[in-house]
Amino acid sequence: MSDAPPQQGRDAASVPKEMRVGTMAAAHQIEFRTVPTPEPASGDVLVRIRAVAICTWEQRTYSGQQPNTFPFIGGHEIAGEIAAIGPNCAPGLEIGDLVAVGSASCGRCHWCMTGQDRACARHYAGAPRYGDAWGPGGFADFKTHPADGVYKVGDAPIDVASLTEPLSCAVHASRILNPYVSEDVVVLGAGVMGLMNVVALKRRGARVIVSEIDAGRLAKAKAMGADELIDASKEDPIARVKDLTEGRGTEAVICAFGGGSANEQALAMLSEKGRMVLFAGAYPEAPLTLAPNKMHDHERQVIGVVSGDKQDFYIASRLIRYHQVDLSPLIQATYPLTQLGEALDASLKPGSYRIIVEP
Ligand SMILES: [Zn+2]
Ligand SMILES: [Zn+2]
Repeated sequence: MSDAPPQQGRDAASVPKEMRVGTMAAAHQIEFRTVPTPEPASGDVLVRIRAVAICTWEQRTYSGQQPNTFPFIGGHEIAGEIAAIGPNCAPGLEIGDLVAVGSASCGRCHWCMTGQDRACARHYAGAPRYGDAWGPGGFADFKTHPADGVYKVGDAPIDVASLTEPLSCAVHASRILNPYVSEDVVVLGAGVMGLMNVVALKRRGARVIVSEIDAGRLAKAKAMGADELIDASKEDPIARVKDLTEGRGTEAVICAFGGGSANEQALAMLSEKGRMVLFAGAYPEAPLTLAPNKMHDHERQVIGVVSGDKQDFYIASRLIRYHQVDLSPLIQATYPLTQLGEALDASLKPGSYRIIVEP
C-alpha cells in the first residue's frame, strides 16, 4: 500500500452516493435514514466504518438515563478504512489504511502549544450533521473526520481497533498518575472502563488492586492482569485495601464506577499523598464531600479524567496495532447496523461488556 500513488484530494471509485445512518429519534427508538455520503472537505478524510463499539454515552442516551438532544447519531468508538482523502491533508495516509477515529486538534492554541490538547476546541471535531440529526456519527456506513484525528491500527482485528478510544482514556489516566513500578493502585469497578485501566496500569508496572461486587467481572480482572482482587459484595474494600498496603491505604485509586458512594469510598482508602482519579461520570450525579484540611494535611489530590490528549490516543493505537495488549475479552457480541436497536438493548444488559456494531 505504501507504494500506491498519492491519493490527495481524490475520491475512491467504490464509494456509493448514499449511505445508511442509524439515529436515535428518542430514547429506545431507532430510525434508519438514507443520506448522501458526505464528501471530505479540506483537511478531512472519508472513513468507511467497519466497527463501532457502544459506550456508556450511547447507552445512557438510548435508555434515557442521560439527557441528550434528539435525533442523535451515536457511535464514537470507531474503526474503519480510509475511503477517500480530501484536499490539503498531510501526507502519511493512503486509501485502504485501517484506522481508529479519534481526537483532532488545531496545533496552534494555548492547549495544543502546551501539550494539553484534550482542552483544544477541536478535540471533538468531526461530529457530522445530517439534517436535524447530530452526534459523533459512528452508527453509519461512512463519516468524514479531520485527517489529523485518525490513527493507523495496522492489521489489528477491526473490532478490537474500535476500542482504541476507550483505551486512550485509560492510557491518559495512567500517564497522569505515572505510578512507579510496583506502586499500589486501586481500580474501583471492573466494567469495561475499569478493565481498560487495569490493562493500562499493568503496562506501567503498577500493582493493581481491583474492587468489584460481581464475581464474573473479578475473574475477568484477574485474567486481564489484576494483582489483587477485592470482592466488595463480601468484604469492606477500605479495610481490605489497608490490609493489602501495610495499613497505609492506597497511593492512587481510579474510580471507574461513578455511582452511589464509590467516590466517598475511594477518598477513604487513600494513603498519605494519595491521588484519586474521577474517571466515570454518574447520572444522576452523586455529590462528594471533601474535607479541605485532610486534603491539605495529607497532600492528597483529586483529578478528573474524561478523554486523552492526542499522545494518549496515539499510544493506545500503538498498543493495539502492535498487539501489545489483548482487549478481545472485552468484546461481548457483534451486530450488523440493521440490528442497531438489538445491539443497544444487549449493551444495557447488566454485566455485559462491549457490544460492537459492524455496518
Ligand atoms: Zn467511549
Ligand atoms: Zn488547539
